[in-house]
Amino acid sequence: MPDPEIVQKGDVIVKVALTCICGSDLHLYNGYVPTMKKGDILGHEFVGEIVAAGPAVTRFRVGDRVIVPFPISCGACWYCKHELWSLCDNSNPNSWMMEHIYGDTGGGIFGYSHLYGGYAGGQAEYVRVPFADVGLEKIPDGIPYEQVVLLTDIMPTGYQAAVYCNINPGDTVAVWGCGPVGLLAMKSAKLLGTERVIGIDRFPDRLQMAHNQCQAEVLNYEEVDVAEQLQNMTGGRGPDSCIDAVGLEARGTGIEDVYDLVKQTLRLETDRASALRQLVKACRKGGTLSITGVYSGFIDKFPMGAIFAKGLTVRGGQAHVHKYLPHLVQLVAEQQIDPSSIITHRMSLEDAPEGYRTFVKKQDSCIKIVLKPEH
Ligand code: NAD
Ligand code: ZN
Repeated sequence: MPDPEIVQKGDVIVKVALTCICGSDLHLYNGYVPTMKKGDILGHEFVGEIVAAGPAVTRFRVGDRVIVPFPISCGACWYCKHELWSLCDNSNPNSWMMEHIYGDTGGGIFGYSHLYGGYAGGQAEYVRVPFADVGLEKIPDGIPYEQVVLLTDIMPTGYQAAVYCNINPGDTVAVWGCGPVGLLAMKSAKLLGTERVIGIDRFPDRLQMAHNQCQAEVLNYEEVDVAEQLQNMTGGRGPDSCIDAVGLEARGTGIEDVYDLVKQTLRLETDRASALRQLVKACRKGGTLSITGVYSGFIDKFPMGAIFAKGLTVRGGQAHVHKYLPHLVQLVAEQQIDPSSIITHRMSLEDAPEGYRTFVKKQDSCIKIVLKPEH
């Protein structure tokens, strides 16, 4: 692909130092979000150095090392002014694609296909970053790229998931999915003062990391009835908040829905169909469901009756990264958090195809993969 150039006055060009593969990339990879075109560049988690800046950029200059939030936000619309950064009105010219179903959709995202604006992504040597003054955050001197690369997305995502739980001291938070997002959601819930976190997954090494790094009690959903077990662990009430850090891995579209229906009819309900319904079933009355896993299209058989009867609060959506970034950078600088502790694989950008294959199958005890472009 040709290197990007400045298009608008507020753009910068970032020379990518590190970029990651995210669980969200897998929804594109698996075909659940079928809006990719040939020549699209993936990747929305990247940090690097500014090598060119448009004439309207005032906060940054060439040579600055920066964190780039995955949502693209204009900073001037009603949503940006209300700190709803990932719902920007001006960064997704293609939002009409879903308007007939959703009414409106969120703002643009780097490297996330034509559903989210068709922007070229960060799994590349160079990226054009629009609205640079609005979104970017300077990396303090002395902090290596690896410690802040997860602040582009999954650290603020996990943090927002925990914030949405409105944690009180003594609370129990259960987290479905001990992938990168789930792990950082558990760390954030602890940081925000929850007493207990319970992590749910099927991969032993992910459960092990949840136990070791997040002091989580863990459940393997292939071995126990999760909702029943959670109730037993919480005096029969259920967790105060339940975080979904699974998303479309649990629910596909089309043929998988039919398959799910058959499995349910035959009472063979297993993993892939059940995360969202388990959240509803397990949560205590009056509790909160914080849905940070990405869903698209229709997710049927969502038990609306139970949500109403139990008086549950449901929150979710793309993370408003800009809102949390300054605080999280400070926590990294003060060594209160080190998100890089979940990185298990460091590969060259050239090896991205192998990285995707490893990550999609969770092989080789893989949790988070960072890719380094050769310049
Ligand atoms: P991942 O694929 O590495 O992790 C998902 C985990 O969920 C896996 O470990 C899997 O074994 C587990 N899982 C699958 N079915 C389950 C079930 N029924 N019960 C419990 N666990 C189950 O992905 P990730 O990078 O951690 O991302 C997780 C989700 O967060 C994805 O849907 C991703 O798109 C989403 N995400 C959202 C935002 C946001 O802004 N809201 C940002 C980044 C990622
Ligand atoms: Zn991501």
